[in-house]
Amino acid sequence: MKTIGMIGGMGWESSALYYAAINRGVRDALGGNHSAQVVLDSCNFAVVEHLQHDGEWERLGQMLAASARRLEAAGADFLLLCTNTMHKVAPQIEAATTIPLLHIADPLGKVIHAAGLTQVGLLGTAFTMEQDFLKDRLAQEHGIACLVPDAEDRATVHRVIYEELLRGDVFEDSRDSYLAVVRRLADSGAQGIILGCTEIGMLLKQEDSPLPLFDTTALHAAAAVDAVLA
Ligand code: GLU
Repeated sequence: MKTIGMIGGMGWESSALYYAAINRGVRDALGGNHSAQVVLDSCNFAVVEHLQHDGEWERLGQMLAASARRLEAAGADFLLLCTNTMHKVAPQIEAATTIPLLHIADPLGKVIHAAGLTQVGLLGTAFTMEQDFLKDRLAQEHGIACLVPDAEDRATVHRVIYEELLRGDVFEDSRDSYLAVVRRLADSGAQGIILGCTEIGMLLKQEDSPLPLFDTTALHAAAAVDAVLA
């Protein structure tokens, strides 16, 4: 079985979701007491958050490249970067090791494409919604266009991620705010919604939503299980 190198802690609540989903996926595939071979390199998210908001992406890229090298040295066969936002520095991570990075946009794009959708709403951090690193890959590699919320809604979605979900806080009024954003994206022509932040699945569940939800955490973890067993 291949060994997964998880670059985690961004935040740790969602890394725990990845870890559980990956181990359950391997057990379901192989049965008995099978579980995944994982090495985890987990950071202090407060450091990451400050560097992000100071625009220190080069330094963040160096930090995560160092994490990738530690995982390769520890025996990882491939890398799983357990956050959407930090895929902004995916090229630096890929350049730092000889093992592949399983990019979060690829299983996502394949599943949306297989569902027959071409235009979806994107919820995530302001970095993910406003910059091109995820949207461009979905457009260029998978033919999927992303709609993002308006500025006020983006600010709400971003604030809830950093002030609540990354701390493990799940509040009903924030769920209502997110669902109002989902409805406005549906009115703008979104056929589905990408949960493009690995913590949003803690807040939004499919049964609450008028549109199909595509949870990057679940899809990325499932792709890791497929890669482990390939
Ligand atoms: N986990 C989040 C994401 O998927 C946000 C934390 C981060 O900025 O890495 O984007």
